Amino acid sequence: TTVPAVTLNNGVRMPQLGFGVYQVPDDETTAAVTAALDAGYRSIDTAAIYGNESGVGRAIAASSVPRDELFITTKVWNADQGYDSTLRAFDDSLAKLGLERLDLSLIHWPTPDRGLYLDTWRALERLHSEGRVRAIGVSNFEPEHLERLVGATTVVPAVNQVELHPALQNRATIAANERHGIVTEAWSPLAQGAVLGEASVIDIAARHDATPAQVVLRWHLQQGRVVIPKSVTPSRIAENLDVFGFELTADELTAIDALERDGRTGPHPADFN
Ligand code: NAD
Repeated sequence: TTVPAVTLNNGVRMPQLGFGVYQVPDDETTAAVTAALDAGYRSIDTAAIYGNESGVGRAIAASSVPRDELFITTKVWNADQGYDSTLRAFDDSLAKLGLERLDLSLIHWPTPDRGLYLDTWRALERLHSEGRVRAIGVSNFEPEHLERLVGATTVVPAVNQVELHPALQNRATIAANERHGIVTEAWSPLAQGAVLGEASVIDIAARHDATPAQVVLRWHLQQGRVVIPKSVTPSRIAENLDVFGFELTADELTAIDALERDGRTGPHPADFN
């Protein structure tokens, strides 16, 4: 499978589909990432708080995939926000991953009550200008956080990784991302499985001889977003990548749009600190 790439606002190319490792214990992460690399994934999404950067690093080290074909993302945790602490946290993440350079580093949450995301961003800008990370971005930024960041700093985020799936479509945030040329990356793209039993999704899947998970991933991909589905089951890991051989119709996309509800699975970014 060849995964299409999106071009970020600094010219860097990012695979449109990657592999997420949230909630995968470190000692199981190496096997899961190895299965993903063997299946053909080239983009891996981890975070310092997941506690499995070492497991990701072991899989990268053991793989024969050349480093320049990989796209590795990690995130600065809330407690590490601030200029100096972000620089230290970045070094720590790189050491655990066993890498010289990252492809994408994100501020994990805005944590507005800490009031530190501008300082955190300036540290990422420095790491970017030093060539230690190819692109920098944010996660869970609401429009108000984005506007403030863009107004006060130099580099526009390349990516905003937010909770996004049929049950939580986050339209205002997507619009803000588009205004600034920021790529939208969907976390929990499958709503952690909660939308896979919907009758309309099952029906559309049957029409395409596909699975519900594949249909939901197509719904994202056809709207230009980056997705990072997670699974530790090799057959599902392969299934979630095998989504480039069919296309949903406009009516099918609309039927999935109609599944919107108050389906947030994580905290609201405005009050998570
Ligand atoms: P997801 O939407 O990817 O769902 C994963 C779950 O869906 C699996 O545990 C499994 O139960 C089910 N599943 C996966 N593939 C399936 C298939 N083919 N058929 C049936 N069921 C299937 O949820 P996620 O793990 O929360 O999100 C994906 C990634 O997004 C994470 O691993 C992480 O990298 C990232 N993430 C980021 C943040 C953030 O704050 N930035 C928060 C949560 C997740």
